[in-house]
Amino acid sequence: MSKMQYRIRGRNMIVWREQPPDFRQQEIGKLLRRLPFTSACIVALGDGLRPKVVVAQRAHEGVWAHLSERNVEMGGLLIGSVHTLEGSTGGFVVAVEDFVRSEHYESTGVSLTMESQVWNTARLRAKEEMSVVGWYHSHPSLGAFFSGTDRKTQAQFFSHPYSVGLVIDPFRHEEMWFLSGESISLDLFQIFISPEVS
Ligand SMILES: [Zn+2]
Repeated sequence: MSKMQYRIRGRNMIVWREQPPDFRQQEIGKLLRRLPFTSACIVALGDGLRPKVVVAQRAHEGVWAHLSERNVEMGGLLIGSVHTLEGSTGGFVVAVEDFVRSEHYESTGVSLTMESQVWNTARLRAKEEMSVVGWYHSHPSLGAFFSGTDRKTQAQFFSHPYSVGLVIDPFRHEEMWFLSGESISLDLFQIFISPEVS
């Protein structure tokens, strides 16, 4: 049963108050077969102990385009899958394959508000073996970092070891990724932009 709990706020808005459903883990081979050869090699040959994030280029560009539209804080959800590395302890890959943009966005650390269409779309995609793997939002001209509120939002709603948080400053051209309820910042070499995840 889904643990996602929400209430309708105002017209067609939903406030998220609990964590999304658990991820279904998939084996890494399933992801490697869907990646272009070079991306698959980088993912497979890298340090197996370090978590990695593979982002479909189309989704990456789409998120940047969305957040560049307006000079206000905006956000949405990241959709994808989680893959564990065989024979490694703790190694895994989060594949970010798609995103759902929210027209209305508000994060306070104890609640996350997006319009109901965003959650509905995310649930539909979940039927295609994808889940909400994280969230993204913008810091227009403030720099890409996680604020105290962002850390609370991550801990409250994206606290799985595989949950990712992406923050982008589209005007300073900065981007940072965080992982798990602890908001551990990921190094550049842990992020791969892949031409396609088919
Ligand atoms: Zn923020």
